[in-house]
Amino acid sequence: MDERLTQALARIRPDVRATKAYPVQSSTGLIKLDTMENPFRLPAELQAELGRRLGQVAINRYPAERTRELAAALATHAGMPEGCAITLGNGSDEIITMLSMAVSQPGAVILSPLPSFVMYEISARYQGLRFVGVPLTADFELDEAAMLAAMAEHQPALIYLASPNNPTANLWDEAVIERIVAAAPGLVVMDEAYQPFAERNAMGLLQRHPHVLVMRTMSKFGLAGVRIGYLIGRAALVAEIDKLRPPFNVGVLNAEAGLFALEHAQVYEAQARVLREQREWLQVELKKLTGVQAYPSQGNMILARVADAAACFERMKARGVLVKNVSAMHPMLANCLRLTVGTPEENQAMLAALKESLQ
Ligand code: PMP
Repeated sequence: MDERLTQALARIRPDVRATKAYPVQSSTGLIKLDTMENPFRLPAELQAELGRRLGQVAINRYPAERTRELAAALATHAGMPEGCAITLGNGSDEIITMLSMAVSQPGAVILSPLPSFVMYEISARYQGLRFVGVPLTADFELDEAAMLAAMAEHQPALIYLASPNNPTANLWDEAVIERIVAAAPGLVVMDEAYQPFAERNAMGLLQRHPHVLVMRTMSKFGLAGVRIGYLIGRAALVAEIDKLRPPFNVGVLNAEAGLFALEHAQVYEAQARVLREQREWLQVELKKLTGVQAYPSQGNMILARVADAAACFERMKARGVLVKNVSAMHPMLANCLRLTVGTPEENQAMLAALKESLQ
């Protein structure tokens, strides 16, 4: 290798060089049920109207008013409580980075239950922070005693509670969450990425506890490609985190598309309703299969344990269906597949492929 290039590479942090990039599976030609996207497009006439709106956006200017309007519209949509403020991210992934930066001091710890969303740990490590993962119980509930003990020992600056959790898809016991939040020595982020599919949300918790922040995303709503995440919390707290937001992080086209989606929120809400019904239908169908253990879900995905997840994943793929094999993420997920809920037709195809792939 060119010597100058070798020298340049040597300047990159060893821990960064030792990690693999976040994997994005190729899905060309496959039924894509691996990343919890909303499978529905906008109706054609709305898609055309959006195109016209985007066509008029002044892309020569940096984002300004429309981004503020988007933030205000999201605050209204989410029912932001009095005394709170909102900040936006380029997806909630970026907000996770901002949060890690905000608490990044020597010795600071970020804590979350495990298995949970991988970016909490990755982002903590990239800020040079210590990450403490507390295993869930065997049925993927919060282990209250273990959480309280770990919090007392490590005094985490920040705790993430994904609600519903990814990849397990369940919603943790509300009373346990309340007690963990009450005992938390720092910030608690309720990650509500899957809120459109869940039967409760954390706005009440936020009102009761000033150290709670609620993080949401438009991704699962139907705008995964647009990249808009948001964070709501006490105005004083959000103001500090907002300082770490890269200026102009939500582009003018994204802001316009986000506003357009909120103006047509009822379309997305109807789609989410179909996905919730499809999830329940899939649960019933999965229970009929021998050799599949499907876990309860409040998201737009179902975690399912099979005898041999690696083989099953490959066979399903060969039959044209892409799901996510999450087995390697955590020992508790051994032989687990995460099945995103798709359109009725996609779900039928997924189920047929799964049935044929079990042995
Ligand atoms: N939080 C959770 C729990 C997730 O599962 C995901 C993505 N799958 C995200 C946050 C990030 O979503 P986005 O960056 O698309 O907003």
